[in-house]
Amino acid sequence: MKYKVLLIEHDASSLRVLKRVIGKSNLDVVSATTLTQAKAIFSTTPPEAYLCAVVDYSLPDAPNGEAIDFALDSFVPVIVITSSTQEDVREHILSKAVIDYIPKQNAQIYDYLSRLLQRLQKNKGVGVLVVDTSRRRRAAMISLLQRHNFDTHELAKPEQILDYLSTYSNIRLMIIDNQLGDIVGIDVVADVRKHFHKDTLSIIGSSEQQSPTVLANFLKSGADDYLAKPYCHEEFFVRVMQNVEYLEQIALIRKTANADYLTGLPNRRHFFNQVHEQLRRSHTKHTLALMDLDLFKTINDTYGHDHGDVVLKEFSKLLEKHFGKFCISRFGGEEFCVFIVDMDEAQALPLFEDFRLAVSEKKFTRKGVSVNCTVSIGVTSKFKKKVESMLGYADENLYRAKDAGRNQVISDLPISTN
Ligand code: GH3
Ligand code: MG
Ligand code: MG
Repeated sequence: MKYKVLLIEHDASSLRVLKRVIGKSNLDVVSATTLTQAKAIFSTTPPEAYLCAVVDYSLPDAPNGEAIDFALDSFVPVIVITSSTQEDVREHILSKAVIDYIPKQNAQIYDYLSRLLQRLQKNKGVGVLVVDTSRRRRAAMISLLQRHNFDTHELAKPEQILDYLSTYSNIRLMIIDNQLGDIVGIDVVADVRKHFHKDTLSIIGSSEQQSPTVLANFLKSGADDYLAKPYCHEEFFVRVMQNVEYLEQIALIRKTANADYLTGLPNRRHFFNQVHEQLRRSHTKHTLALMDLDLFKTINDTYGHDHGDVVLKEFSKLLEKHFGKFCISRFGGEEFCVFIVDMDEAQALPLFEDFRLAVSEKKFTRKGVSVNCTVSIGVTSKFKKKVESMLGYADENLYRAKDAGRNQVISDLPISTN
């Protein structure tokens, strides 16, 4: 879904540049040059459709930040832009519940705005849990987090934390106070860390105690960061952002390391990690299939390598569609693998047969040119100690499928379904 951003700016050249910057962030810009116009816009589109408003502090019909109040009263997060360098204007802006304010000083600010807009979009999917016995302190943090579009959660007691984190798997950050009645926040962190690794959950410890040992003990017990209370808003956001962005970097690195570059499917190493993970949950029967595209070299030779790449990508999408809930992988070249738990080959064969047929009927089109391609599939349910041994059996059956004329599914069963 594409979010809207309400831009209220009077100056024509700023308006032009800002429209371009916001548009580049894959957002729909709805612009107004006065507060009156902005009000008219909100009377026709509901404010909920807006990711945020980018508002000039001073407008002809709203010279002293009145447009900021209007957007905030409509429950739309606000980023303020201003050409004023006066300290009292800055203070006036920051006294309001705005996301941030950006002085119109140099071109760098557009880059900053663009990053801020991207964050606001991403934050919608990021859960943050605040654990604090004080309703007032919780409310203060929650309000700051909501300003940045985070999906917020709060707990007054630490007892249910583990269940809560398991239930709301989008929680990426927990901010926890140290004084939790009879329980110490530091001990809770140590316990949470037994179940939730630093790569998936960041923790910021927090306390009103002015003691360096609290900070050190939080970090030693598994917290990633520390926020002393009272805190200023800017420090709060910088710490929250750094921790959230760190997790995103980790997730990106992991995704890149696990995926095949062309098709995005899990690579061989990741495939085996997933398979071993499934096998640990002790299943009695499983099926493995090796697939190899037929005469694929001919497609490359006849239509070009780029068309070959299109076939591999489209084939992968089809594989995902048919077997996405199981372990799948591009093993390399034009070879793919599927591992299915809780099904023996007799049960799984119809699935492979359906897939084989779907591939043979598909048109792989690039630049108006369509080609057909078929797949040969070797299936096995023979398992000796290691899943890797299944590859050998599946490969033998794949070889038999190729030998028997390609475009077919061969398993260990005496009668094949095709
Ligand atoms: P068979 O039916 O016996 O499997 O014949 P084949 O032509 O599919 O088998 P062969 O092993 O001779 O050819 C595989 C081809 O796949 C050769 C290689 O250039 C091509 N290939 C491997 N990786 C890629 C890739 O990423 N993109 C493209 N376009 N081609 C690739
Ligand atoms: Mg091959
Ligand atoms: Mg091949």
